[in-house]
Amino acid sequence: MSTFQAPKGTYDLLPPNSATYLAVREAISGPLKNSGYGYIETPGFENVELFARGVGESTDIVTKEMYAFETKGGDKLALRPEGTASVLRAALEANLHKGGNLPVKLWYSGSYYRYERPQKGRYRHFSQVGAEAIGTEDPALDAELIILADQAYRSLGLRNFRILLNSLGDKECRPVYRAALQDFLRGLDLDDDTRRRVDINPLRVLDDKRDAVQRQLTGAPMLRDYLCEACKAYHEQVRELLTAAGVGFEDDEKLVRGLDYYTRTTFEFVHDGLGSQSAVGGGGRYDGLSEMIGGPALPSVGWALGVDRTVLALEAEGIVLDIPAATAVYAVPLGEEARRVLFGTVTALRRAGVATDFAYGGKGLKNAMKSANRSGARLALVAGERDLADGVVQLKDLESGEQTPVALDAVVDEITRKLG
Ligand code: ATP
Ligand code: MG
Repeated sequence: MSTFQAPKGTYDLLPPNSATYLAVREAISGPLKNSGYGYIETPGFENVELFARGVGESTDIVTKEMYAFETKGGDKLALRPEGTASVLRAALEANLHKGGNLPVKLWYSGSYYRYERPQKGRYRHFSQVGAEAIGTEDPALDAELIILADQAYRSLGLRNFRILLNSLGDKECRPVYRAALQDFLRGLDLDDDTRRRVDINPLRVLDDKRDAVQRQLTGAPMLRDYLCEACKAYHEQVRELLTAAGVGFEDDEKLVRGLDYYTRTTFEFVHDGLGSQSAVGGGGRYDGLSEMIGGPALPSVGWALGVDRTVLALEAEGIVLDIPAATAVYAVPLGEEARRVLFGTVTALRRAGVATDFAYGGKGLKNAMKSANRSGARLALVAGERDLADGVVQLKDLESGEQTPVALDAVVDEITRKLG
């Protein structure tokens, strides 16, 4: 072991388990790529102000969890804690929203950083796949994103997840509700921090996980009763489209989510096998975010799904993904001449698209065959001096154990035929 370890709250993805992470990213991005979303990649860090304004000054993410730092040049940056603010910043910077082709549909995949108390399912470095649909107000777009996330989870075999759905209202009705809620909350017995939150972002108090707070919230005014006609009609359409698509959901009027920028549709995917870190993904509409970061009005909707927690959800449901072995053919040379010849065959096989590996380091037959079996390969290619003298190599089926000589110049064709 080296004297160094992965930093607290982080872990390394190593083979063979890392293959599951790749498969999860594929499964989540597949439905997006198939639905008009283009891939976007943004830097791992941004101007800290982007997150302060975009995620919200009063959020835990900005006040407690951000990795903020000053560079040698004096720039104030932060490692990205989430994807939406960066993606919107990039789309605005590149004028993707101009030219009349709205919505701008983008998907991304990457690492995110939050200084949190590490526990199972909660890390300081984690990975998300996300999607944003920028510049259009249409309930079908909200429904589309929820349906695509549902499709992604189902394609992985997940079943024990639920979709929680709520509407947070808009700039017409939310302020009225906000004031009513503040009135109610100011009459409660709350600690100083929570009182401050009542002033800055009272909706988030509804999301407080502590029993002492939750108990006092019975009888709190509910946003549902304050939604304006336009928000009600919008939400009803989202619900109808989901139902028509056969996607089940639960109305959760307390769902407010941790980010300040959400309006109207908000949703969360929760998994019942994950204990308290139950949210595997979440998102919603953020009609005001663009203006908050200096852009034009661009009503938008998006989500981010956590890759780490999705992998934990797979484990919780006992799902093992069917991931094909990385190696199909394993070549075992016996002696110097065979090494040179077989290495050439390996290169030819790889160029023909066959996943092939090689016994490096002059291993003996027994050791090399062990490596061949461990690689998961279906076929081994073995050759010694005598085989070469006969112009053949031995092709061994590692399942049946059956071994047949194949002419050296026919071996690539023979193997591609065998592997279909
Ligand atoms: P939580 O309520 O669990 O803190 P969140 O609301 O902060 O979640 P989002 O900002 O909505 O999470 O991020 C979307 C998804 O990213 C989450 O549903 C989760 O799967 C994942 N995620 C967020 N924070 C972490 C973390 N610290 N470690 C691992 N995954 C995370
Ligand atoms: Mg969080």
